[in-house]
Amino acid sequence: MTPPQVVVVGSYVIDLCFNCEHFPAPGETLAGTSRTGPGGKGSNQAVAAGRAGAPTLYVGAIGDDAFGRDAQAFYEREGIATHWAVKSTQPTGSAAILVNAEGQNQIIVALAANLKLAKSDLPAIAIDGARMVICQLEANLPATTHALKLGRDAGALTILNPAPLRPDFKATMLKHVDILIPNETEFVELINRLGLHPGKKPLTTTAMLKLPPAKLHALCGTIGVPVVIVTLGMRGCFISRADGYVEVPAFQVKAVDTTGAGDAFVGGFAAGLLEHDGDLAAAARHGCAVAALSVTKPGTAPSMPTRAAVQRFLRRQR
Ligand code: AMP
Repeated sequence: MTPPQVVVVGSYVIDLCFNCEHFPAPGETLAGTSRTGPGGKGSNQAVAAGRAGAPTLYVGAIGDDAFGRDAQAFYEREGIATHWAVKSTQPTGSAAILVNAEGQNQIIVALAANLKLAKSDLPAIAIDGARMVICQLEANLPATTHALKLGRDAGALTILNPAPLRPDFKATMLKHVDILIPNETEFVELINRLGLHPGKKPLTTTAMLKLPPAKLHALCGTIGVPVVIVTLGMRGCFISRADGYVEVPAFQVKAVDTTGAGDAFVGGFAAGLLEHDGDLAAAARHGCAVAALSVTKPGTAPSMPTRAAVQRFLRRQR
Protein backbone atom coordinates (compact mmCIF):
# COMPACT_ATOMS: atom_id res chain seq x y z
CA MET A 1 0.00 0.00 0.00
CA THR A 2 1.23 3.58 -0.77
CA PRO A 3 2.42 5.23 2.46
CA PRO A 4 -0.29 7.62 3.68
CA GLN A 5 0.25 11.23 2.70
CA VAL A 6 -2.87 12.45 4.46
CA VAL A 7 -3.41 11.52 8.12
CA VAL A 8 -6.86 12.29 9.54
CA VAL A 9 -7.04 12.19 13.33
CA GLY A 10 -10.67 12.40 14.39
CA SER A 11 -13.99 10.84 15.24
CA TYR A 12 -15.92 7.79 14.10
CA VAL A 13 -19.62 7.60 14.94
CA ILE A 14 -22.22 5.11 13.77
CA ASP A 15 -25.25 7.02 12.52
CA LEU A 16 -28.55 5.39 13.51
CA CYS A 17 -31.12 7.23 11.40
CA PHE A 18 -34.86 6.88 11.99
CA ASN A 19 -37.58 8.32 9.78
CA CYS A 20 -40.92 9.03 11.45
CA GLU A 21 -44.11 10.99 10.64
CA HIS A 22 -43.61 13.33 13.60
CA PHE A 23 -41.15 13.49 16.49
CA PRO A 24 -42.27 11.33 19.45
CA ALA A 25 -43.70 13.16 22.45
CA PRO A 26 -42.30 12.25 25.89
CA GLY A 27 -43.36 8.68 26.67
CA GLU A 28 -44.60 8.04 23.11
CA THR A 29 -43.39 5.06 21.01
CA LEU A 30 -43.66 5.47 17.24
CA ALA A 31 -43.23 3.08 14.33
CA GLY A 32 -40.71 4.23 11.73
CA THR A 33 -38.07 3.11 9.25
CA SER A 34 -34.33 3.08 9.86
CA ARG A 35 -30.92 2.86 8.27
CA THR A 36 -27.44 2.83 9.77
CA GLY A 37 -24.25 4.20 8.28
CA PRO A 38 -20.71 5.22 9.15
CA GLY A 39 -20.35 8.84 10.23
CA GLY A 40 -18.31 11.17 12.44
CA LYS A 41 -16.60 14.22 11.03
CA GLY A 42 -13.08 12.78 11.08
CA SER A 43 -14.12 9.52 9.50
CA ASN A 44 -16.20 11.27 6.83
CA GLN A 45 -13.21 13.46 5.93
CA ALA A 46 -10.89 10.44 5.73
CA VAL A 47 -13.36 8.65 3.43
CA ALA A 48 -13.73 11.78 1.27
CA ALA A 49 -9.94 12.15 0.94
CA GLY A 50 -9.35 8.42 0.39
CA ARG A 51 -12.07 8.01 -2.23
CA ALA A 52 -10.88 11.19 -3.97
CA GLY A 53 -7.52 9.51 -4.48
CA ALA A 54 -5.32 10.69 -1.57
CA PRO A 55 -3.36 7.90 0.17
CA THR A 56 -5.03 8.35 3.56
CA LEU A 57 -4.68 7.01 7.10
CA TYR A 58 -7.57 7.40 9.54
CA VAL A 59 -6.65 7.50 13.23
CA GLY A 60 -9.43 7.22 15.80
CA ALA A 61 -10.85 5.46 18.85
CA ILE A 62 -13.68 2.91 18.93
CA GLY A 63 -15.14 0.61 21.57
CA ASP A 64 -14.64 -3.15 21.82
CA ASP A 65 -18.14 -3.80 20.47
CA ALA A 66 -20.19 -4.65 17.38
CA PHE A 67 -20.28 -1.04 16.12
CA GLY A 68 -16.48 -0.87 16.45
CA ARG A 69 -16.11 -4.06 14.42
CA ASP A 70 -18.49 -2.57 11.82
CA ALA A 71 -16.16 0.44 11.59
CA GLN A 72 -13.13 -1.80 10.99
CA ALA A 73 -14.99 -3.83 8.35
CA PHE A 74 -16.17 -0.65 6.62
CA TYR A 75 -12.59 0.68 6.27
CA GLU A 76 -11.37 -2.69 5.02
CA ARG A 77 -14.02 -2.58 2.29
CA GLU A 78 -13.02 0.99 1.46
CA GLY A 79 -9.33 0.06 1.26
CA ILE A 80 -8.39 3.03 3.46
CA ALA A 81 -5.63 2.50 6.04
CA THR A 82 -6.55 2.84 9.72
CA HIS A 83 -4.94 3.04 13.11
CA TRP A 84 -7.58 2.18 15.73
CA ALA A 85 -7.33 2.70 19.46
CA VAL A 86 -9.79 0.15 20.87
CA LYS A 87 -11.19 1.26 24.24
CA SER A 88 -12.60 -1.56 26.36
CA THR A 89 -14.28 0.81 28.84
CA GLN A 90 -16.22 2.88 26.31
CA PRO A 91 -18.73 2.13 23.54
CA THR A 92 -18.08 3.17 19.93
CA GLY A 93 -19.45 6.64 19.23
CA SER A 94 -23.05 6.68 18.03
CA ALA A 95 -25.65 9.19 16.91
CA ALA A 96 -29.44 8.85 17.04
CA ILE A 97 -30.85 10.90 14.17
CA LEU A 98 -34.61 11.37 13.92
CA VAL A 99 -35.99 12.81 10.68
CA ASN A 100 -39.69 13.74 10.50
CA ALA A 101 -41.95 13.92 7.44
CA GLU A 102 -40.97 17.58 6.90
CA GLY A 103 -37.28 16.63 6.74
CA GLN A 104 -36.46 18.30 10.07
CA ASN A 105 -34.05 16.43 12.31
CA GLN A 106 -33.29 15.89 15.98
CA ILE A 107 -29.90 14.44 16.82
CA ILE A 108 -28.19 13.08 19.93
CA VAL A 109 -24.49 12.26 19.56
CA ALA A 110 -22.63 10.12 22.11
CA LEU A 111 -18.96 10.59 21.23
CA ALA A 112 -17.98 7.96 23.83
CA ALA A 113 -14.70 6.25 22.78
CA ASN A 114 -13.75 9.24 20.58
CA LEU A 115 -13.36 11.35 23.73
CA LYS A 116 -10.89 8.80 25.12
CA LEU A 117 -8.42 9.05 22.23
CA ALA A 118 -5.09 9.60 24.01
CA LYS A 119 -1.84 11.25 22.94
CA SER A 120 -0.17 7.83 23.31
CA ASP A 121 -2.65 6.39 20.75
CA LEU A 122 -1.22 8.54 17.95
CA PRO A 123 1.07 6.77 15.45
CA ALA A 124 4.01 9.22 15.57
CA ILE A 125 5.85 7.38 12.76
CA ALA A 126 2.94 7.68 10.31
CA ILE A 127 2.41 11.33 11.20
CA ASP A 128 6.13 11.91 10.71
CA GLY A 129 5.93 10.78 7.09
CA ALA A 130 2.68 12.56 6.20
CA ARG A 131 2.30 15.61 3.97
CA MET A 132 -0.87 16.70 5.79
CA VAL A 133 -2.51 16.17 9.17
CA ILE A 134 -6.23 16.92 9.36
CA CYS A 135 -8.19 17.31 12.62
CA GLN A 136 -11.64 18.42 13.80
CA LEU A 137 -13.03 19.01 17.29
CA GLU A 138 -15.11 15.87 17.88
CA ALA A 139 -12.34 13.67 19.31
CA ASN A 140 -10.44 14.20 22.58
CA LEU A 141 -9.06 17.77 22.43
CA PRO A 142 -5.63 17.28 24.10
CA ALA A 143 -4.94 14.34 21.73
CA THR A 144 -6.15 16.44 18.77
CA THR A 145 -3.85 19.31 19.76
CA HIS A 146 -0.99 16.83 20.12
CA ALA A 147 -1.67 15.42 16.63
CA LEU A 148 -1.46 18.94 15.17
CA LYS A 149 1.76 19.58 17.09
CA LEU A 150 3.30 16.28 15.90
CA GLY A 151 2.32 17.19 12.34
CA ARG A 152 3.77 20.68 12.58
CA ASP A 153 7.03 19.37 14.13
CA ALA A 154 7.33 16.82 11.31
CA GLY A 155 6.92 19.52 8.66
CA ALA A 156 3.45 18.38 7.54
CA LEU A 157 0.75 20.88 6.62
CA THR A 158 -1.70 21.01 9.53
CA ILE A 159 -5.39 21.53 8.76
CA LEU A 160 -8.10 22.13 11.36
CA ASN A 161 -11.82 22.01 10.67
CA PRO A 162 -13.05 23.66 13.92
CA ALA A 163 -16.28 21.69 14.05
CA PRO A 164 -18.19 21.50 16.25
CA LEU A 165 -16.89 24.58 18.05
CA ARG A 166 -17.10 23.02 21.53
CA PRO A 167 -17.28 25.15 24.69
CA ASP A 168 -13.93 23.67 25.85
CA PHE A 169 -12.12 24.63 22.61
CA LYS A 170 -9.02 26.66 23.46
CA ALA A 171 -7.53 29.18 21.03
CA THR A 172 -4.00 27.98 21.93
CA MET A 173 -4.67 25.00 19.62
CA LEU A 174 -4.58 27.42 16.67
CA LYS A 175 -0.85 28.03 17.03
CA HIS A 176 -0.23 24.55 15.56
CA VAL A 177 -2.55 25.14 12.57
CA ASP A 178 -1.51 26.11 9.02
CA ILE A 179 -4.95 26.04 7.39
CA LEU A 180 -8.22 26.65 9.26
CA ILE A 181 -11.44 25.56 7.50
CA PRO A 182 -14.58 26.67 9.36
CA ASN A 183 -18.04 27.02 7.84
CA GLU A 184 -19.69 30.44 8.05
CA THR A 185 -21.36 29.74 11.43
CA GLU A 186 -18.15 28.44 13.00
CA PHE A 187 -16.19 31.36 11.56
CA VAL A 188 -18.55 33.93 13.09
CA GLU A 189 -18.62 32.11 16.43
CA LEU A 190 -14.83 31.86 16.48
CA ILE A 191 -14.43 35.58 15.76
CA ASN A 192 -16.85 36.39 18.61
CA ARG A 193 -15.29 33.90 21.05
CA LEU A 194 -11.81 35.24 20.39
CA GLY A 195 -13.10 38.82 20.78
CA LEU A 196 -11.79 39.77 17.34
CA HIS A 197 -14.85 41.64 16.02
CA PRO A 198 -14.10 45.36 16.12
CA GLY A 199 -17.82 46.34 16.43
CA LYS A 200 -19.63 46.85 19.74
CA LYS A 201 -22.09 43.98 19.18
CA PRO A 202 -21.11 40.37 18.35
CA LEU A 203 -20.79 39.59 14.64
CA THR A 204 -23.75 37.76 13.07
CA THR A 205 -23.67 35.48 10.03
CA THR A 206 -25.91 37.91 8.12
CA ALA A 207 -23.57 40.83 8.88
CA MET A 208 -20.49 38.73 8.01
CA LEU A 209 -21.93 37.84 4.59
CA LYS A 210 -22.41 41.55 3.83
CA LEU A 211 -18.81 42.51 4.68
CA PRO A 212 -16.68 43.62 1.71
CA PRO A 213 -13.80 41.27 0.82
CA ALA A 214 -11.16 43.64 2.23
CA LYS A 215 -12.87 43.62 5.65
CA LEU A 216 -13.34 39.83 5.64
CA HIS A 217 -9.70 39.40 4.67
CA ALA A 218 -8.59 41.72 7.51
CA LEU A 219 -10.81 39.85 10.00
CA CYS A 220 -9.32 36.50 8.94
CA GLY A 221 -5.85 37.99 9.41
CA THR A 222 -6.59 38.66 13.10
CA ILE A 223 -7.08 34.93 13.84
CA GLY A 224 -3.35 34.30 13.55
CA VAL A 225 -3.52 31.22 11.27
CA PRO A 226 -1.64 31.59 7.94
CA VAL A 227 -4.56 30.44 5.76
CA VAL A 228 -8.29 30.67 6.54
CA ILE A 229 -10.84 29.06 4.21
CA VAL A 230 -14.47 29.75 5.07
CA THR A 231 -17.05 27.49 3.40
CA LEU A 232 -20.33 29.16 2.49
CA GLY A 233 -22.68 26.33 1.52
CA MET A 234 -24.04 26.76 -2.02
CA ARG A 235 -22.04 29.99 -2.38
CA GLY A 236 -18.75 28.05 -2.30
CA CYS A 237 -15.91 29.40 -0.15
CA PHE A 238 -13.32 32.12 0.21
CA ILE A 239 -9.62 31.81 0.94
CA SER A 240 -7.76 34.42 2.95
CA ARG A 241 -3.99 34.29 3.32
CA ALA A 242 -1.19 36.82 3.75
CA ASP A 243 -0.87 37.55 0.03
CA GLY A 244 -4.56 37.86 -0.82
CA TYR A 245 -8.21 36.94 -0.82
CA VAL A 246 -9.85 34.62 -3.38
CA GLU A 247 -13.47 33.54 -3.79
CA VAL A 248 -14.15 30.06 -5.17
CA PRO A 249 -17.74 29.48 -6.34
CA ALA A 250 -19.65 26.27 -5.64
CA PHE A 251 -20.73 24.04 -8.54
CA GLN A 252 -24.40 24.10 -9.53
CA VAL A 253 -25.93 20.72 -8.77
CA LYS A 254 -29.30 19.36 -7.69
CA ALA A 255 -28.74 18.87 -3.96
CA VAL A 256 -30.69 16.08 -2.24
CA ASP A 257 -28.83 15.91 1.10
CA THR A 258 -26.25 18.47 2.20
CA THR A 259 -25.28 16.63 5.41
CA GLY A 260 -21.54 16.06 5.38
CA ALA A 261 -20.88 18.66 2.65
CA GLY A 262 -18.30 20.35 4.89
CA ASP A 263 -16.54 17.02 5.48
CA ALA A 264 -16.57 16.28 1.74
CA PHE A 265 -15.02 19.70 1.13
CA VAL A 266 -12.19 19.15 3.65
CA GLY A 267 -11.33 15.66 2.31
CA GLY A 268 -11.62 16.85 -1.29
CA PHE A 269 -9.47 19.89 -0.53
CA ALA A 270 -6.73 17.64 0.91
CA ALA A 271 -6.82 15.39 -2.17
CA GLY A 272 -6.79 18.53 -4.33
CA LEU A 273 -3.69 19.88 -2.57
CA LEU A 274 -1.84 16.67 -3.51
CA GLU A 275 -3.22 16.68 -7.05
CA HIS A 276 -2.43 20.39 -7.65
CA ASP A 277 0.93 20.56 -5.90
CA GLY A 278 -0.17 22.77 -3.01
CA ASP A 279 -2.14 25.30 -5.11
CA LEU A 280 -4.77 26.49 -2.59
CA ALA A 281 -7.32 27.87 -5.06
CA ALA A 282 -7.15 24.75 -7.26
CA ALA A 283 -7.45 22.55 -4.16
CA ALA A 284 -10.48 24.53 -2.94
CA ARG A 285 -12.12 24.10 -6.37
CA HIS A 286 -11.41 20.37 -6.03
CA GLY A 287 -12.99 20.45 -2.55
CA CYS A 288 -16.07 22.19 -3.98
CA ALA A 289 -16.33 19.50 -6.69
CA VAL A 290 -16.13 16.64 -4.16
CA ALA A 291 -18.69 18.42 -1.94
CA ALA A 292 -21.01 19.16 -4.88
CA LEU A 293 -21.03 15.49 -5.90
CA SER A 294 -21.60 14.40 -2.28
CA VAL A 295 -24.74 16.56 -1.91
CA THR A 296 -26.34 14.91 -4.94
CA LYS A 297 -26.59 11.64 -2.97
CA PRO A 298 -28.11 10.82 0.43
CA GLY A 299 -25.93 10.02 3.44
CA THR A 300 -22.51 11.23 4.53
CA ALA A 301 -19.60 8.81 4.02
CA PRO A 302 -21.51 6.68 1.46
CA SER A 303 -22.13 9.82 -0.66
CA MET A 304 -18.43 10.68 -1.07
CA PRO A 305 -17.38 10.44 -4.75
CA THR A 306 -14.49 8.44 -6.22
CA ARG A 307 -11.52 10.09 -7.94
CA ALA A 308 -12.84 8.94 -11.33
CA ALA A 309 -16.25 10.54 -10.64
CA VAL A 310 -14.59 13.81 -9.57
CA GLN A 311 -12.43 13.89 -12.70
CA ARG A 312 -15.44 13.17 -14.95
CA PHE A 313 -17.40 15.93 -13.21
CA LEU A 314 -14.58 18.47 -13.54
CA ARG A 315 -14.11 17.64 -17.25
CA ARG A 316 -17.79 18.42 -17.84
CA GLN A 317 -17.41 21.82 -16.11
CA ARG A 318 -14.81 23.17 -18.56
P1 AMP B 1 -20.94 24.04 4.00
O1 AMP B 1 -20.37 23.16 5.04
O2 AMP B 1 -22.46 24.06 3.99
O3 AMP B 1 -20.36 25.42 4.00
O4 AMP B 1 -20.58 23.37 2.58
C1 AMP B 1 -19.24 22.98 2.28
C2 AMP B 1 -19.04 23.04 0.79
O5 AMP B 1 -19.99 22.15 0.17
C3 AMP B 1 -19.29 24.40 0.15
O6 AMP B 1 -18.09 25.16 0.17
C4 AMP B 1 -19.71 24.00 -1.27
O7 AMP B 1 -18.57 23.82 -2.07
C5 AMP B 1 -20.40 22.65 -1.08
N1 AMP B 1 -21.85 22.75 -1.06
C6 AMP B 1 -22.66 22.85 0.03
N2 AMP B 1 -23.96 22.95 -0.33
C7 AMP B 1 -23.99 22.90 -1.69
C8 AMP B 1 -25.02 22.95 -2.68
N3 AMP B 1 -26.31 23.06 -2.35
N4 AMP B 1 -24.66 22.88 -4.00
C9 AMP B 1 -23.35 22.74 -4.34
N5 AMP B 1 -22.32 22.69 -3.46
C10 AMP B 1 -22.64 22.77 -2.15
